[in-house]
Order: sequence, then C-alpha cells, then structure tokens
Amino acid sequence: MDISQLKAPLFVSWQLTRDCDLSCLHCCSESAPGRKLPAELSREEALRLAGDFVDAGVPYVMLCGGEPLVVPHFFEVAELLGAGGVQLKIETNGQRFGSEEARRLSRLPIRSVQVSLDGATPEAYRSLRPNGSLEKALGACRAAKEAGLPLEITFAPCRMNLHEAEALIDLALELGAFRFNTGMLMRLGTAVRFWDRLAPSAEEYERFFAMLERREAELAGRLELKFRPRSIEEALEAQLSKAPATLLVMPEGLVKVSGSLAFICADLRTQSVQKAWGRYLSAAGSLRKFDAASLIRGEENAINSASSGSSQAVAQETR
Ligand code: SF4
Repeated sequence: MDISQLKAPLFVSWQLTRDCDLSCLHCCSESAPGRKLPAELSREEALRLAGDFVDAGVPYVMLCGGEPLVVPHFFEVAELLGAGGVQLKIETNGQRFGSEEARRLSRLPIRSVQVSLDGATPEAYRSLRPNGSLEKALGACRAAKEAGLPLEITFAPCRMNLHEAEALIDLALELGAFRFNTGMLMRLGTAVRFWDRLAPSAEEYERFFAMLERREAELAGRLELKFRPRSIEEALEAQLSKAPATLLVMPEGLVKVSGSLAFICADLRTQSVQKAWGRYLSAAGSLRKFDAASLIRGEENAINSASSGSSQAVAQETR
C-alpha cells in the first residue's frame, strides 16, 4: 500500500500522560508517580484532539502512557473516540482496572486491552515493579475477560523474570488472552539507568526466543505469540524500509517520527491531523537515507550524554 495516498493515518498511538502509579525499573518512558509533564494536553485539548481524530477518519487509536487510567479524562477521551466509531486499544499496568472500568469500556469498540504481566510470581513481578501488585494485574485481566473484552498480555524480558516467561505464556492462555506480546528489552528511559541489572545475556535471549518459537508452533490458533521484530533496531529497520501509517502522539500533542527516535515532526496542539500526517510522511521519507544502526547509536549517545533518557518507545506497535 502506498501510504502517501491516505488522507489520515490508519493507527494512532497516543500517550495520554507520562504519569504513572508505578515506578518500574525497566520503564522505557521514565514514567513514575508525579512524572506528569508540565505541558501535557489539558482535558479540553485532549477532547478536541480526540474529536479531530474522529473527523479525520482515523480508524484505530491506542491509548497508552505512562498509565492512561491515571488521567482524569481517560474515559471521556475513550468514549468520544468510541462514539465516533474509532476502534480502541488500551495499554494498562492493571493496577486500577477492575470490573467497573471493564464494564464501562465494554460498551466501546475495543480491539484489545493490553495488560503488562512481568512475572508469574509476586517476587519476580515486584523485582521490576517495586510498588506494583501482581494480584491487581491478574484481577484486571480477569475483569477484562468477564466483561467480554479482548485481552492481550505484554511481557518485558529481564534477568529477574526470564525464568518465568514460559509459565506466563501458560498463564496468558489460562486467562483467555488472544495474544502474548514480547521482544527484547528496550534500552530507553529508566531502563538505561538499570541496564546492567536488567539486560538478559545473549545466551539467555537465545534460549528465550527458541522457547517462543517452539511454543508458537504448539499454540497456533489458540494464542498468538508476537515477538517479531525482536529489537528496536529490527523495528526501526522495518520502519525505514516501509513507513507504517501510524502517528505516535506524545502527552504534549507532539508527534514523533519513530518510537525509538526523539525526532518530532508535528505538533497537534497547533496543527491539524491532516497537517501532522503530511509532515510525518515527509519526515519518514527523509529518514530513509539513514541506516537503523547509526540512528540508534546517535540516539543512545544523546541519551547517555544527557544521563536521562527522554525518549518513549515501543519496539512493536501491536494492533
Ligand atoms: S513500565 Fe509501564 S507501568 Fe511501569 S512505570 Fe513505565 S509506564 Fe508505568
């Protein structure tokens, strides 16, 4: 498909906030309690932007963060989009997602509720999410399923939880998830500071991906295992060769060209969706002359020299 012929993106990944109720060691966005950015979109601005996405004909929006459910106007934004016929994906850590939240969302066109489960035991879970509750995250999964919502599990592999990866796949199956989403840990945000403690070795990754390939074949038709592209580099290479019809919107309304790069191509606080889409297409075209490895290297140098990563990223935009 030639995406330059499209009048609007097919997918918008919208980080509603940098704020979060957890402070995970492996967070790729440096989110934590009280980390709301000073210039995040206000309720009025967020609702206006949601209306703009509807008017522009964007078919699918992912609401994420930080933790989107800490945003007081989260449901208003979701409901405005849903009422406009926009399909939705919600990414949550599951700490404040119970039956009431699930029931409210079940009235909307939800394609996925994605819950982060980074451990099958409270010990492994808390080693990465010190102020988090595995019980609450599991409760969120059950509430989503009971409300008839499509459940997706995401797993960030680290040294502390890799031994539980296979048990988590079984748990995802038992919980009724349709997809188990993983890949390699991203060296971004808070994770940069704890990298030596967190990053699995090459051998550990080799065993992990061999296990995923074995389970993928075995679970075909029952649970989708999503682990390609494996790394930021692979995701960026794929993006450079074929730009996705996706806008990545930051909490201040800024639009990034790629999840793993800091380049901003538009500002939805002041520019229309159509304008931002045009600027994205042109920026994505300019990036094609670079190779992924040098772009990532430049990004890492910038992050390390600033000693705090400001980039937010997902290696995979699972839809
Ligand atoms: S990884 Fe997710 S839950 Fe943890 S601090 Fe970051 S945004 Fe919050």
